[in-house]
Amino acid sequence: MGEFELISHYFAAASCAQAGEGVALGIGDDCALLELPVAEQLAISTDTLVAGVHFPHSPDPFLLGQRALGVSVSDLAAMGATPVGFTLALTLPSAEPDWLQAFARGLDDMAQRCAIRLIGGDTTRGPLSLTLTVFGRVPAGMALTRKGAQVGDLLCVGGELGDAAGALPLVLGQQPAESAAAEVLLARYWSPVPQLELGQALRGKATAALDISDGLLADCGHIAAASGVGLVIEQAQVPLSAALLAIAGEPLALQCALSGGDDYRLAFTLPAQYLAELQQASLPVRVIGRVVAGQGVSLLDVQGRPVQPPCSGYQHFGSARD
Ligand code: ADP
Ligand code: MG
Repeated sequence: MGEFELISHYFAAASCAQAGEGVALGIGDDCALLELPVAEQLAISTDTLVAGVHFPHSPDPFLLGQRALGVSVSDLAAMGATPVGFTLALTLPSAEPDWLQAFARGLDDMAQRCAIRLIGGDTTRGPLSLTLTVFGRVPAGMALTRKGAQVGDLLCVGGELGDAAGALPLVLGQQPAESAAAEVLLARYWSPVPQLELGQALRGKATAALDISDGLLADCGHIAAASGVGLVIEQAQVPLSAALLAIAGEPLALQCALSGGDDYRLAFTLPAQYLAELQQASLPVRVIGRVVAGQGVSLLDVQGRPVQPPCSGYQHFGSARD
C-alpha cells in the first residue's frame, strides 16, 4: 500500500475527515482552510507522542488513536476554546491494514466526542510517533491563560486526580489489570475525555487555567509563576477516586494525584462568587485550595500544617519520574 492510498483509505475516508463547521477545505490539497467567525481568535496547540516515552511500545491501536487525540484536545479545553480541526503527522514503521483501521477508528471515536475534524497531516515511515496539532476558536480576549490568578481566588480542579498515573503499572503489565477498579483506571489513561464543557463555562469567570498533564503540583507551579502569586493546596481536599484508592492505597493514591501525570483535568483559579453557579450547572468543580500572596505551591496537611510535597511532576530532559 502506497502513502496516498493509505491516506485516502484510512484518514480521508474517516467520518471525522468529512466537511464540517469551520472547515472550508479539508484533506487533499496543499493546505486546509479554516473559517473563523468574526471577533474570534484561533487557539493552536501541538503535541507529540513517542512510542516508549508517552505510551508503551506496541499499544492497542484503537486506544492509541483515542488517547492521542484526547490529550491534544485537552489543551483546547484548558483555554476555553471550542474545537474546530486537527492535523495528524503520523510516523509508522510499516503500513499494517489492521493496525491502521483500528487506529483510525479510535481517532474517529474521540473526534466525534469532541466534535473536531481531521483536516490534514503527514505520513512518513520510521519509529512509531504521532504529532497532532489542534485548532480551536475562542471569542477574542476570552481565552483562559495561566496568567491572571488573583490573591483570594479559590484553586479548583475538574474532578478526581491520579487515576491515569495509578494506571501506569497496569498499562506496563507490572500489575494484574483484571478487576473493575483496574478497568476504571485503564479507561482514564487510554481515553482521557477533554473537559471542553467545563473550559467553555469558565470563560469570563476563571482568572487562570490549564490542563494537568505533568502532575498537579508541577502544573499549579506554572499558574503561580505566570500569575506572580502563591498557591496553597489542602491535601485533604484533593479528590481521589474509589478505584484509585482500591488499587493503590491511600499514601500512593495521594502521590499519584499530586505528582503523577496524564490527568488531563483542568486546574483553575476562580473568584468565590462563581462557585455556586458552576456547581449548580452540574460542572465538576472541586475546591482544593486558594491563591495567596507570594510564590510557588505549598501543601497543607489536615491540621493546616505545611507538608513537604512528595516530588514534583514529570519533565523530559529533567530528573526521572520516580
Ligand atoms: P504535500 O506533499 O503537499 O505535503 P501530502 O502528499 O503529504 O501533501 O499529503 C496529501 C494530503 O493528505 C494533504 O492534504 C495532507 O494534509 C493529507 N494528509 C497526509 N497525511 C495525512 C494523515 N496522516 N492524516 C490526515 N491527512 C493527511
Ligand atoms: Mg504540498
